[in-house]
Amino acid sequence: STGRLGGLNNAESGGVADAKNLRVKLVLLGDSGVGKSCIVLRFVRGQFDPTSKVTIGASFLSQTIALQDSTTIKFEIWDTAGQERYAALAPLYYRGAAVAVIVYDITSPETFNKAQYWVKELKKHGSPDIVMALVGNKADLHEKREVPAQDGIEYAEKNGMFFIETSAKTADNINQLFEEIGKRLPRPSST
Ligand code: GDP
Repeated sequence: STGRLGGLNNAESGGVADAKNLRVKLVLLGDSGVGKSCIVLRFVRGQFDPTSKVTIGASFLSQTIALQDSTTIKFEIWDTAGQERYAALAPLYYRGAAVAVIVYDITSPETFNKAQYWVKELKKHGSPDIVMALVGNKADLHEKREVPAQDGIEYAEKNGMFFIETSAKTADNINQLFEEIGKRLPRPSST
């Protein structure tokens, strides 16, 4: 192992604390309206409040989790806040990101297509060892489902990503999403 952590172990990003306490930059990508802010609010504050839109913009929300191997991971969560429209900003946004969470809405095939676009962008501009998660959100709306889970599974498998379906509304699989990411993060080598 080279001792690098998902492209994060550099001065720019703030990097890691030590082998047992990791700090990672996580970027959210996906069409507007798929539920990115709601996922973050559910994870960080434990609530679903579609009316209180967080204006993240220049800043980020953070949340620390503990894994079973007693590692703690502090996620610094960056929402695009609409900046996904400005392709020129993308490399700046991805820089130092150890994790990318690409979200679509299971009731909207267009958002699934857009998710695939973001995966390609990440492969171009992201760190080569970035951990990528593909998230089909709004799983509670199963009666309106238009993207079969199998499509997400297959796409994720082909692209070396972790796949999960979530509901920010019911909290289904929200904590699991971040725990699974935590398990997949490369650990810095102990020297
Ligand atoms: P963003 O633009 O990707 O950040 O999307 P938001 O987090 O603002 O969510 C857009 C809308 O989708 C919100 O007004 C919520 O009502 C709705 N929403 C988000 N997550 C869920 C979910 O898991 N289930 C359902 N039914 N609605 C959701």
